[in-house]
Parts: sequence; C-alpha cells; structure tokens
Amino acid sequence: MEERPPDDPKENADSLAGEIGVQGIEALPRRVQRYGAAKAGALDVAEFISGLGGHQGLARRVGSCGDYLMFRHYFTVDEVRLHAASLCMKHLLCPLCAIRRGSKALKSYLDRWEVLRGSNASLKPFLVTLTVKDGNDLAERFKHLHRGQRELWMRKHRARGSCLDGVMGAVWSYEVKRGTGSGLWHPHLHMIAIAEHQPDQLQLSAEWKNITGDSHVVDVRPISQEDPVSGFLEVFKYAVKFSDQPVEDTWHCYETLRGKRLIGSAGCFRSVVVPEQLIDEPFDDLPFRTLFYRYLTGRGYDLQRRKDRPA
Ligand SMILES: [Zn+2]
Repeated sequence: MEERPPDDPKENADSLAGEIGVQGIEALPRRVQRYGAAKAGALDVAEFISGLGGHQGLARRVGSCGDYLMFRHYFTVDEVRLHAASLCMKHLLCPLCAIRRGSKALKSYLDRWEVLRGSNASLKPFLVTLTVKDGNDLAERFKHLHRGQRELWMRKHRARGSCLDGVMGAVWSYEVKRGTGSGLWHPHLHMIAIAEHQPDQLQLSAEWKNITGDSHVVDVRPISQEDPVSGFLEVFKYAVKFSDQPVEDTWHCYETLRGKRLIGSAGCFRSVVVPEQLIDEPFDDLPFRTLFYRYLTGRGYDLQRRKDRPA
C-alpha cells in the first residue's frame, strides 16, 4: 500500500477539514496525529503563559489539555467517536479545543443548512467577508467591526432598503490576524448568508463604507451547492490562526477577545444550538472498542490499551 507522507504538523494544528467526512477507524491515525500537533501547540502556549507569572492555574489547564484521549470505535457501523478527554475549553489559547469547537459549530450549521435546502430548493448559501482597515489597537478595531456588523443588520430590520434585504438568515464568525504587509491588526468576519439571489457586492461595499467610514473591502461569492463544506469551513475555522502567529500575539488576542461572542447568527440560522461539550455524543446501544491514547512529550499520542466490550 502506498504510504501517505505525514502532514505538516503546523498545517495539521489548524486543520478543521479533517473533522468532517470519514470518521471510520482508518481515519483515526491521521485524526490522532492532527490532535497531537494541536496539543504540541497548546504546550507552547502554556509554557509562554507560565513564564508571564500570575497565571499558573491557566498555564496548567492549557498545558494539561488533551493529556489523554479516549475514543470509542463503534465497529458495527465503523465510526470512531471521541468519548472522553481532559480538555481546557480555552479555544482562544488552545489549538486542540479550537479544532473541536470549530467542528461542533460546523456540523450544527451544516445540518441546519440541509434542512433549509430541503424545505426550499431555491435557497443558496453565499460566503460574505467584511473587513475593517488594519490598525494598531486590536480592541478598538474589533469593536469597530462588531458595531459595523450590528448596524448592517439594523439597517435590514429598519426595512428602508439594504443590501441584505433578500437574506433569509446568516451565521458569521470573527477572525483576527495581523495584516500581511502592514503587520497591524486585521479583524474581519466571514458570514454564510442564505438567500435566493447573490447579494450585490458593489452595493454591500458602498453600504459598508457608509457604516464604517473607513472600510469598503468586502467580498461576496457563491458557495458550491455540491460541496457546501468548503464554504462553511471558511466561517468555522478559528478566531485566531495559531500556527501563523507568535505566541505573544495569541496571548494578546486572548486577553482582548475572551468573553466576547465570536460567532453570531440571524434569521433562519438563529436558533441553531451548538453543543457546549467538545467530546462526541456516544451511541448508546452499539458495541464498541475503546482506544486510549496518552500524550508523551516529544513523541505525540501513544495508544495505551485497547478494550473490547460487546453490547
Ligand atoms: Zn484545550
């Protein structure tokens, strides 16, 4: 059998695509490898936090995230689910929790999209990106973007003519990185907008400039109906791209953005419930085998033992 080259661990750490799709036993080694790369990233962050002084509890929590992972392989349906893990839930600091959180949201909104599409075949998803001008002060730039997005939706609700008029619902997420070239903070948001017709990019650009006063860069494009996952991935990837930024920036983003809602929704996406739990739902009535992995520093995840339990 041809051997696949191992993925770049940095790419792995941010890879959400692997969370959707094949969930059988043959996909588990790559999944564990992905989580191992993410766990290594979390250890780097924990080490940095530990060096700051005064945040030892947080450093321990992030550093011990994913120390073990317990999977169940439901072999009669060949599906592997993450049954238990010690997770820190700090998705702005921890690549492992960010992957799990992103995949939960991705699945919940994709499921809703399938229901919407089933009830009205003329609806289509569009990927809308809104940006604000880069700036030095992340908190100020983020607030500017957040207010701009709120005003955009207020204009739709006031029903006096808005580029979002045909939009039935949307889900969006905020993302923060440094602008290429400027090196300044570049918060932006990606949104899935559900509509029968594509929102007009020029009209949106003009309206966005009118709202923000300093920013007109927007993008509107259709999402493939055959492969909606690729478009949805853009929205549910992480708020920060851990592998692309120094750990100091990750810490600054955490300090600035913690406690803020980084995913928002409106209209037909409003009531979607994303599970808080980052582990998977078990199958109650199927037999399974347990696979227990422990993380060994410098080596990655190591399969510890394997227990069989018939139903
Ligand atoms: Zn974590």
